[in-house]
Amino acid sequence: AMPLLEVRDLRTHFELEDGVVKAVDGVDLTVSRGRTLAVVGESGCGKSVTARSILRLVERPARIVGGEVLLYGDESAGDPEDLLAAKDRRLRQVRWADIAMVFQEPMASLSLVHTIGDQIVEAIRLHENVSKAVARERAIEFLGRVGIPDPNRRVDSYPFELSGGMRQRAMIAMALSCRPRLLIADEPTTALDVTTQAQILDLLQDLQEEFGMAIMLITHDLGVAAQVADEVAVMYLGEVVEHGPATSVLTKPKHPYTQALVRSVPRLGQRGQDRLAAVRGSVPPPYERPSGCRFHPRCDAFMAGKCDEIVPVRVRTDDIDVACLLYGEGER
Ligand code: SF4
Ligand code: MG
Repeated sequence: AMPLLEVRDLRTHFELEDGVVKAVDGVDLTVSRGRTLAVVGESGCGKSVTARSILRLVERPARIVGGEVLLYGDESAGDPEDLLAAKDRRLRQVRWADIAMVFQEPMASLSLVHTIGDQIVEAIRLHENVSKAVARERAIEFLGRVGIPDPNRRVDSYPFELSGGMRQRAMIAMALSCRPRLLIADEPTTALDVTTQAQILDLLQDLQEEFGMAIMLITHDLGVAAQVADEVAVMYLGEVVEHGPATSVLTKPKHPYTQALVRSVPRLGQRGQDRLAAVRGSVPPPYERPSGCRFHPRCDAFMAGKCDEIVPVRVRTDDIDVACLLYGEGER
């Protein structure tokens, strides 16, 4: 599949008084056209900061200190555009029209003082030359499609008049009604009940087929990833440690971290309910980045004198890219 978005060596650091937290520290990943990439990992591994950095939606004390975010054009001809180097004006065009984003917390992207309908109409008309009436019709259509009852009436509601779940759906409707080439969704269904969650994931897949939209789905839930993803990228402590086709990564993972994550989900690991519920140990405190392989303090395959000294480099093993010294060399 052709790439739509390529993130290369992305680094976003939090420059705090007590030191620098390297929340995103050398992330490489690719989203293919019309496909779904799930970015998985425990919380605190930099998934959300990665997502926000793609659209440069990070604020002090966070700062993007390096890397490239390459967006490819509609036809394969021409060089990709580095969004990290783009002018602010250009970036505002890219948001919604090319890349739309939905967050875990809908109030982060909805205005309190405008109706849902007005906000969706404005987002559509920002980059599409359509009348207000046409945009409003589309707003109503998408509010209905995300499962908001009585969308003809709800279109004139203010966000505070909706429940949390309905606001979440309204935000998703706003993103989808702009028909972006890429939807970045950060835990979009985590706050919703299981039925609604399934409904929204189905809708995303329908729209993907309809418009050829690519999806980058941030989730801590491997079950969700298994349900919707074509590709999976596994993040640990600010970097991607494993990246490949979903079927391979979720059923035959290479990296010991992914193996532990997969085992912790009974349905995926197929080892029954007797497994412990999580990866051994916990994500280390933010200022303490382990030497060598960042996962070494928690790894069952730890090799002393090697894993704590050598930084693994990502290598292709079968159809998976993996950063682990069991598969390839590294750098001191
Ligand atoms: Fe484990 Fe060593 Fe591989 Fe890191 S490099 S994941 S510590 S085996
Ligand atoms: Mg998060």
